[in-house]
Amino acid sequence: MPCSCGKPGRVKLSYTQLTYCKNCFLRLIQHRAQKELRQKAYFKGKDRAAILKDQGKEYFIANWLFEQIFENRLQLRAVKSFGNVRGKKILPSSLDREIKRRLDPFLTGKPSPDEKLLRFPTSLLEEEVIQTCKLIGYKKIKKDPPHPLIDPLEKRSPGTKFALYQSFQEIDSS
Ligand SMILES: [Zn+2]
Repeated sequence: MPCSCGKPGRVKLSYTQLTYCKNCFLRLIQHRAQKELRQKAYFKGKDRAAILKDQGKEYFIANWLFEQIFENRLQLRAVKSFGNVRGKKILPSSLDREIKRRLDPFLTGKPSPDEKLLRFPTSLLEEEVIQTCKLIGYKKIKKDPPHPLIDPLEKRSPGTKFALYQSFQEIDSS
């Protein structure tokens, strides 16, 4: 199936029948990430921030998105640990990781990890992170283990993860 712009479709996702060409898919991803940053209001003007460089796919896409969105307006430093970092600390993430972080304390009874970190991007599914990384040239992709509760649900009703994300947004803004 071709992309809605008429070019051959290259990207197929689990939750929609649509296929995307490279340009339209990357634009979709960038717009969603931009919206996320606007909603969260993490940065204003020439902020300084540190991002954890763990070499994973989430770091790779977060860094790419910051470059696309802020160009040089954000003073972003890549660090191997947050040990001595002051100011804003960004932990590379994904929507799947955000679901795990927010639900697992309820499921396991264990408290959730450090709340002072800013997580980004949390509006993109892991499968979208993977597709984006492939298109922008990151090859060492390692998938996270599936969530025992959420992934089977998502398989049965595609869109469950987005619905959960929506609920988190509503909780955060209430
Ligand atoms: Zn297209």
